[in-house]
Amino acid sequence: MDMISGSCLCGRVEFSVQDAFVYSGYCHCSLCRKASGASGTAIGGIPKALFSITKGEQHLKRFSRSKDTVSCFCRLCGSTLYGEKPATGMVHVRYGALNSSPTRLPQAHMHVASKADWYEISDTLPQFSEFPPGAAPPDPV
Ligand SMILES: [Zn+2]
Ligand SMILES: [Zn+2]
Repeated sequence: MDMISGSCLCGRVEFSVQDAFVYSGYCHCSLCRKASGASGTAIGGIPKALFSITKGEQHLKRFSRSKDTVSCFCRLCGSTLYGEKPATGMVHVRYGALNSSPTRLPQAHMHVASKADWYEISDTLPQFSEFPPGAAPPDPV
């Protein structure tokens, strides 16, 4: 299985993940919006065992942003890299932190019910008011 690397903005934290994302989508929840400072995030879900920090673990900071999500970011440059989902054993990798494109592209818009009013979705991907049914965690990614 191919591996994809990723890093934070300053480059001190690097990770490696198998190119085997189980699901992917654009998240429009208010937590992703605040964490990223953008309209939302593109994420891919993968079992935690297929993801590893390869450099700079000591610079990684964890923040429990909700009961189901631990947000992981570089304490030096602030890049949010991924979220841990303890309840499901999944990791939600921020596609923006990847160094190359994954095979599984975003397939849907999630948490559209809490989308920013100033952002307009202009593609034809399916939209879900919360998380797509059957695609895993109940809470914001
Ligand atoms: Zn950094
Ligand atoms: Zn989200």
